[in-house]
Amino acid sequence: MIPLRIKVDTDAVESYVVRLRSLEGFANEHARHELNSFEAALDAAGPDGADYLGEGGSIRIHGIDPSEVDGDVLLVNPRRGVADRLIRRSSPHNTFLVTERCDQLCVMCSQPPKEHHVDMFPHFEAAALLAPQDATIGISGGEPTLFKDQLLEFLQRVMAERSDLRFHILTNGQHFDERDLVAMQSLDRGRIVWGIPLYSRDPAIHDEIVGKQGAQERLLRNLAILCRAGAQIELRTVLMEPNARGLPELARFITTTLPFVQTWAIMQMENIGYGRKNWKTLFYDSSAGFDVVARALDLVRSRGIDAQLYNFPLCTVPEAYRPLAPSTISDWKRAFMDECDGCDLRSQCGGFFEWHPRNHGYSGLGAI
Ligand code: SF4
Repeated sequence: MIPLRIKVDTDAVESYVVRLRSLEGFANEHARHELNSFEAALDAAGPDGADYLGEGGSIRIHGIDPSEVDGDVLLVNPRRGVADRLIRRSSPHNTFLVTERCDQLCVMCSQPPKEHHVDMFPHFEAAALLAPQDATIGISGGEPTLFKDQLLEFLQRVMAERSDLRFHILTNGQHFDERDLVAMQSLDRGRIVWGIPLYSRDPAIHDEIVGKQGAQERLLRNLAILCRAGAQIELRTVLMEPNARGLPELARFITTTLPFVQTWAIMQMENIGYGRKNWKTLFYDSSAGFDVVARALDLVRSRGIDAQLYNFPLCTVPEAYRPLAPSTISDWKRAFMDECDGCDLRSQCGGFFEWHPRNHGYSGLGAI
């Protein structure tokens, strides 16, 4: 697995953001002039680690080759002697985790909420401004809109400075209201996609899945507000035993009531967090029961709504629907199984989450 956290030594006291550069060496004056105040250049590398120097001081990184972190943006925590790779230059999967707090308690949550919260927006802002040209940055949680005012201000400032950046924000959609319209409309809405889950047309099933009474009613009201704000919405539905058979009904509802969504993403489950705890009762084997997915896809697509399958191994999807199943699992948590050896589709397939169980999953799986 690609490491997102690396061991470091630094002479700093407070946490800070830095971009690593493998220039010709800090001793090289020309190279030094290329650095901005948030950068550090490779000075020397050896068996004891790689040393970087910059205006902010020195940092030694351990356990990773400098070529793998060239251009990466790190959040360095001197107290704990670690650095989080907030932005990996070569990855399209960079996400800022705004908070671990959440007001829902979804049965398949991959990252169960915690009460503890530290405001990281100043670090995220510094990191975003150092992101590679034309990057898309993910924002997630917990529930990021529990800190909605800070989030909208962060977006306003960063997007004003960096007209090339785009954002993909995962939110449960519970916390918008009419007063947000002005702030939302002042953002460049073409550069933000809001990923929002809706699990069922049936309010009782949706509310049961997210562990919050009245959640669907509130969500539908807020989707209308987002529509008025001109927001781009990617509706997300994790496929599970409790909602799978209602998928065609949900598709009909989307075509009649939510036709303004840009994309409907039907997603396979992740076996981690509560998803692991409840896997045996929740996992829906779509390789054996793709009929409900197919009917739902056909319905929304016949009305001109884009539909996608996220986290579906390609061999579990009938051939006609494979173009709708891009590789979506982030590179650092993607894995393949023994069954994938020699598969012709491997280069296009997104594979599995690293933690997908080997002994309980898809019944129809195998090299093509
Ligand atoms: S066998 Fe593996 S690589 Fe091939 S389509 Fe299935 S999951 Fe993907």
